[in-house]
Amino acid sequence: MSASCLFCKIAQKQIPASIVYEDDQVIAFHDITPQAPVHVLVIPKNHCDNISDIPSDAPDPILAILRAIQIVAKDLGLLKSGFRVVTNTGLDGGQSVNHVHFHILGGRSLQWPPG
Ligand code: 5GP
Ligand code: ZN
Repeated sequence: MSASCLFCKIAQKQIPASIVYEDDQVIAFHDITPQAPVHVLVIPKNHCDNISDIPSDAPDPILAILRAIQIVAKDLGLLKSGFRVVTNTGLDGGQSVNHVHFHILGGRSLQWPPG
């Protein structure tokens, strides 16, 4: 837990969010500024700034995150139509919240490449 981190506070239920999935390692909630009909953020409960910051000896929440993404996509009806998972990392990646997170975007046809 990082005391000043917005997503740590959401994971600790100190700041409300519209939670769609939770287990012991992972929590998922609707993005406050949705960019698609479905826009959910999946985060590990333990703080980590971004992919560049994951320590090599850390317990591995990645499988839990992938399972959570699959469950959220299924629950929100995206499995058949498809969806996109995005992890913005650092300055050039456009990351604005420094707690690693995975955007699930779906419910419309998404363009490629991103800008
Ligand atoms: P990033 O820009 O770091 O890839 O994504 C951060 C995301 O967090 C943005 O899509 C932004 O809308 C979302 N966000 C920022 N503040 C809040 C908040 O307080 N609650 C929720 N649910 N989402 C937030
Ligand atoms: Zn955090």
